[in-house]
Amino acid sequence: MPRAPKYTFGRAKSDLSNQQWMRSGMSTHGSAYLINSANEDGVSLGIMKNNKSKRHGCEHAEDVFIRTVKDKVGLLRTSPAVNTLILSVSKSPCSSTYGTSNKKVGCAEELIKFQNNPYICPITGNEYIFRIIVISRSLYKQSMGSRHALRMMVRNGIQVTTDVHRKKDGSPMAKEF
Ligand SMILES: [Zn+2]
Repeated sequence: MPRAPKYTFGRAKSDLSNQQWMRSGMSTHGSAYLINSANEDGVSLGIMKNNKSKRHGCEHAEDVFIRTVKDKVGLLRTSPAVNTLILSVSKSPCSSTYGTSNKKVGCAEELIKFQNNPYICPITGNEYIFRIIVISRSLYKQSMGSRHALRMMVRNGIQVTTDVHRKKDGSPMAKEF
């Protein structure tokens, strides 16, 4: 029998019920859109997932996201124009500050640094400004650390929103973000 594909997000997510998906322990998957004055309706930056390669080492979906944005400067508007990036992730970003990351610098910290410092393209010297909106499907590891990491991102100017979670009786839980 053929083995089930390891990744189904964005391709055949209907294969898994929400509950199966939440319990599957799959690594973070993301997708991103860019909105700026040249792309007012938004343009897809593609799908991101954890990645291991000789060239880039071990990357989380958020690392792939940042690398992808830098790779696609042709779609960006130079400063003072603002490039809005909408990053949708299956789990909230890990954080080195709150002990939920296996990296030296967690993804929450990397996203904050990326948004709050203009990116200078090493080839052209052009400067780009970003505003990031993170849509997180669930809290990474369901922990307090994840919650603190989301709050830290909000404090640092990143807009964060999470899915509405439901109690066992189906009623919605209070939305934190
Ligand atoms: Zn991460």
